[in-house]
Amino acid sequence: MYTNPLYRPPSEARSLIIQLTEGCSYNKCTFCGMYKDKPFRLRSPEEIRTHIEYLKQYDPRPDKIFIADGNFLCLSTDKILTHLQMVKSNFPSATRISCYAGPLDLIRKTSEDLTAIRNGGLDMLYMGVESGNDEVLKRINKGVTSKEMIEAGKKAVKHGFTFSCMIISGLGGDELSQAHALDSAKVISEIDPQYFALLTLNLEPNTPLYQQVMKGEFTLMSPDDIMIETYKMIEALSLTNCVFRSNHVSNYVNLSGILNKEKAAILKKIKVAMSSRDYTPEYFRRL
Ligand code: SF4
Repeated sequence: MYTNPLYRPPSEARSLIIQLTEGCSYNKCTFCGMYKDKPFRLRSPEEIRTHIEYLKQYDPRPDKIFIADGNFLCLSTDKILTHLQMVKSNFPSATRISCYAGPLDLIRKTSEDLTAIRNGGLDMLYMGVESGNDEVLKRINKGVTSKEMIEAGKKAVKHGFTFSCMIISGLGGDELSQAHALDSAKVISEIDPQYFALLTLNLEPNTPLYQQVMKGEFTLMSPDDIMIETYKMIEALSLTNCVFRSNHVSNYVNLSGILNKEKAAILKKIKVAMSSRDYTPEYFRRL
C-alpha cells in the first residue's frame, strides 16, 4: 500500500502516514538520497481511494496525519484543497495534518493560496533549511538562497502554520563549518519557528555528495568538530519560544530543550559530552 522508501519526521512516528504523492518534484539536493530512485508523481484517484480504504482498516481514528512523500505543497492549490478535504472527511478524528514543505513551493504560493490551504486543514509544515550559508546552499544545490529561505519560512509562520525547520550539522565540511553555524543560526532566528531540529550529515551511497566524499572532494567532519559547530550554532541562536530537538539517530549527542530559555543547559550538555567524548557510535548512526 506504500511505495517505499517512505520517510516522515521523527515527531510523526505515531501519525498515520497517507501517501498522496510519491517522491520529490525537486530531487536535486546533493546530500539527499530519499527519493533518488522514485520519480515524482501524484497518485491516481483510484490508487488514493484504495490506499485510504486500506488505512481505514488499519487505523480508523488517527489523532495525527502526515501526508507523504516529499512535497505535497508543489501541487496546485485546488488539488491540495481537494485532497485535504478528502483526508479530513475520511479521518475526522485527526486533530493535526502535516507535511514536508520545500522552500520553492512556499515561495511560489500566494498569500491567498496559503490562507486557503491553512483554512483547508493543513496545520503543520516541516522545511529542510539545511544551512543558512549561501555557499553551502549553492554547493548542495538546494535551489534557494538564505534570503529566499527566510522568505519561505516567514511566509509559513505568518500564515498560521505550526512550523518546524531542520538544519544539518557538518554540511559545510571543515572549510565552511564556522559560516554554516553562524549563518544557520541567523536564518533560524529570523524565521523564529516553533520547532527546530538539528540533524547530522549521514550520507547514503546513492547521493552525489557521497560520491564527492569517495573522490576526496568533500571530507566528513569528526564528531568533535561537529560538536564545536553545534555549540557555536546554538550559542548564536535567538529564538522566542522554540522546541529544539537534536535526538535523531544521526546525531552524536542527544540534545533537547526550549530555546532560548534552556540555552545555557543545552550548551553545558555539549561541553560535558565533548569532555568525555560520549558520542553515539558510528555503527549506531547508520542503523
Ligand atoms: S532534501 Fe528535500 S527538496 Fe531536497 S531532494 Fe531531498 S526531499 Fe527533495
